[in-house]
Amino acid sequence: MSKTVIWSIIVVMSLSLVGVGMIQYFWIDRAVALDEKNFNDKVTISLSNVKKRLQNDAEEAAEKNYYSESQSYRNNSSSQLEARIRQLELRSSVLDPDALLENIDIQHLDKYLRDELISKDIGLKYEYGVYSRREKAYIIENGNYTATIGDTTKSSNVAALNPLSKAEYKIPLFEDELGEPGHLNLFFPGKKRFLWSNVSGILISSVIFTALILFCFSFTIYIIFHQKKVSEMKTDFINNMTHEFKTPIATISLAADSIVSPSILSNQEKVTRFINIIRQENKRMLSQVEKVLQMAQIEKENVELKWNEVNLHDLIEHAVINAELKVQAKGGAITTKLLATRPLLMADVTHLASIINNLLDNAEKYTPEKPEIVISTRNVGQGIELSVEDNGIGISKDAQKNIFEKFYRVHTGNLHDVKGFGLGLSYVKAMVEAHHGRVGVKSEAGKGSTFYVYLPFKQSV
Ligand code: ADP
Repeated sequence: MSKTVIWSIIVVMSLSLVGVGMIQYFWIDRAVALDEKNFNDKVTISLSNVKKRLQNDAEEAAEKNYYSESQSYRNNSSSQLEARIRQLELRSSVLDPDALLENIDIQHLDKYLRDELISKDIGLKYEYGVYSRREKAYIIENGNYTATIGDTTKSSNVAALNPLSKAEYKIPLFEDELGEPGHLNLFFPGKKRFLWSNVSGILISSVIFTALILFCFSFTIYIIFHQKKVSEMKTDFINNMTHEFKTPIATISLAADSIVSPSILSNQEKVTRFINIIRQENKRMLSQVEKVLQMAQIEKENVELKWNEVNLHDLIEHAVINAELKVQAKGGAITTKLLATRPLLMADVTHLASIINNLLDNAEKYTPEKPEIVISTRNVGQGIELSVEDNGIGISKDAQKNIFEKFYRVHTGNLHDVKGFGLGLSYVKAMVEAHHGRVGVKSEAGKGSTFYVYLPFKQSV
């Protein structure tokens, strides 16, 4: 898959996710708005019922007053006319809207509000107040007469500062054709939270599901990029390997062609030389094949190891003899410091030998001039630590993180001269781990590297 395709998928997927998120937000917001409308309707009906009940109260009180006053005038045996005038006066004073407002029975108001809201299933905490235009202040607040009534400092500004003045629900009380003497304000401090809490389940689950989709999507993209890198590395590996095989195959075919020519066949010495070349090249191919086989080993989930008691020092000495020739050819030397007093351990001898060969090979390969290689052992805890130190080109900190990865090779400067498949260290790591050990590196670019391998004496499985 090309990079553009992957990036296009990322862009389309991200846009879709944003779109889905926005649609979800839109629906949830709509649901909240609908809930709010429903809530508002209920509150408005409640308030108008409260208003009616207050009005009824006031009318009843007026009637009662009228009746008792007229009775008393009659008893006082005043003239009928006098009584009538008095009645009219009284009536108009009882029905003075402002007087009505200020004579609201707090307990009634409190009860009516509570009853009406509860009957509409509204259990939210609320605050309310009765505002008087004449007083320019709230004369009742949450079931109490406000202490500031009659205070000369009262002004409309003071009332405006009252949180009740921002109340969403407002209904005029005792209004007549001359205007309204005041109004009842009601507000619910926790309304927004209450409305959103109704949709919190949907909201939380949609956030969780979106996060899950986002996570899976990012993970898939990560895997795609990783696979792409591995496939590029594999292609590199195949090119590399083909190149590595071509040289010995060409040399062998050239030598074989030469041998059969009559002028050479008769010359025993020349025949032996060509046969030696064929043998040498064959050996080289064999070692390449071994490397490829090592890759198969790494890819296997469970490597089957043949456990035997092995003397690590013997294996090291053997490996040093093999590696020494190349090192000496470059004018260098291999030093051994075998300090482990207990060199015996349970291991698979073939793989352990390959681990040592790989490390020695690398130490030689990546030290262009006069390799001074030190291979040492020491006992650490319940095992042995083996280290291979060189004075070669070293490895940068960044590259150190990757060198144990399959097919990874440092591609810098003249390193291209050094042949390899990028498999050696990943094989070392896989095998050391199969032995329940650890592998690590300390290195500084330009100064050299030291590879450490820790192997336990015993295998618990
Ligand atoms: P290969 O040697 O075939 O490339 P390895 O897996 O053995 O593969 O090594 C991976 C990379 O680690 C090498 O390409 C090289 O860049 C770096 N490396 C390994 N050993 C050394 C060393 N001793 N000194 C410097 N670089 C090293």
